[in-house]
Amino acid sequence: MSQKLVLATRNSGKIIEFRRILEEIAPGAVELISVNQFPELIDVEETGSTFEENSLLKARYTSEATGLPAIADDSGLCIDALGGAPGIFSARWAGKHGDDQANLEKVLEQLKDVPEEKRGAHFLCVASLVLPDGREHVAEGRFDGSILRSAVGANGFGYDPIFQPKGLAISSAQMSAEEKDLVSHRGKSLRSIAPHVIQLLATLR
Ligand code: IMP
Repeated sequence: MSQKLVLATRNSGKIIEFRRILEEIAPGAVELISVNQFPELIDVEETGSTFEENSLLKARYTSEATGLPAIADDSGLCIDALGGAPGIFSARWAGKHGDDQANLEKVLEQLKDVPEEKRGAHFLCVASLVLPDGREHVAEGRFDGSILRSAVGANGFGYDPIFQPKGLAISSAQMSAEEKDLVSHRGKSLRSIAPHVIQLLATLR
């Protein structure tokens, strides 16, 4: 029988990625339930100053409020020429949470005079698992690349159309979902946390 695990995000792009990656790593082992199935849950304020703190805030609250194990991530884009911004503010950077178009237009505008060799960037993701008895595990993943001069491609979400993965001549919005999962920050953090998810959930049965 598979063990229920609540996914603490309302980001529909992330929900699709999480399901796909966890299912590939451990087919049938985990029944991933969206936080949207618990209407009484509030949106956790991301008051932390690191990806790890924010992902733990979301997973701890969700596990406590549902009485079930919970998994969350916090992720974002860190741009060298902007001193690491938008960082933990990625989804809220242009003012409105989750307005992808406004966020990537703001990046392009701020980087318009930055030359090729200074356009380095990376995505970071920290995934956290929290069990109702308080046990926790965190794992980080990083995805290196640079910022393009205009948006290309329609796959993915967020900053994907302006992010060029290192060593490739396309944007991450031109990669297939499967290609991106193999190299992305979330793919890496989920692949590294997955054995712990399977092992810890097995102790709850
Ligand atoms: P969070 O929902 O606070 O974790 O913010 C994550 C935000 O970072 C997303 O809404 C995107 O703007 C950005 N982001 C994270 N992962 C990706 C990705 O794989 N592609 C593009 N943008 C991403």
